[in-house]
Amino acid sequence: MDAISIPQLLKMAEQRQAFEFREHLASLETLTPVQGHLSVRHCGGYLEVTGSADTIVTLACHRCLQHYNHRLQLDASELIWLEEPEPPTFGAEVEVDYDDLVETLPPNGLFHPDNWIYQQLCLAIPHRQLCDRNCSGIDLSPEIITGGDDVDRRWAGLAALKQQLGEADPPR
Ligand SMILES: [Zn+2]
Repeated sequence: MDAISIPQLLKMAEQRQAFEFREHLASLETLTPVQGHLSVRHCGGYLEVTGSADTIVTLACHRCLQHYNHRLQLDASELIWLEEPEPPTFGAEVEVDYDDLVETLPPNGLFHPDNWIYQQLCLAIPHRQLCDRNCSGIDLSPEIITGGDDVDRRWAGLAALKQQLGEADPPR
């Protein structure tokens, strides 16, 4: 995906560029090409970006650590403010307010569609990754942890005790 020149958008019909895509992103490993569409509109002081994307990624289950495939789908839109970056101020106290957290681009700069789609896909990756809702996780049964005879003997003692209790006469 080619970078879009922000000032060039003003010369286009409806100050807007829209296109479909189907390709692998360099920054994100996916099983299938990422496909979708993207529209970038210049609205004077800001860009209005709308897009959709669809792909399949391989994730590792948080419970059993097995890999599984997960379909990522998104429909997203974002406003990106156009303003020149502030020159760095040395020695001054840096205050971070909410405005700094909003995405901005210089009005004469470039918009990188692949970067935007990459960010949206990252946000769409589930927090809690499970291969299956009922995944029972790693098998922690005693035989697997200590492996064998040792355990059998200890459990044999318990089994014998259970049997004794079972055979004892119920209290009257
Ligand atoms: Zn699992």
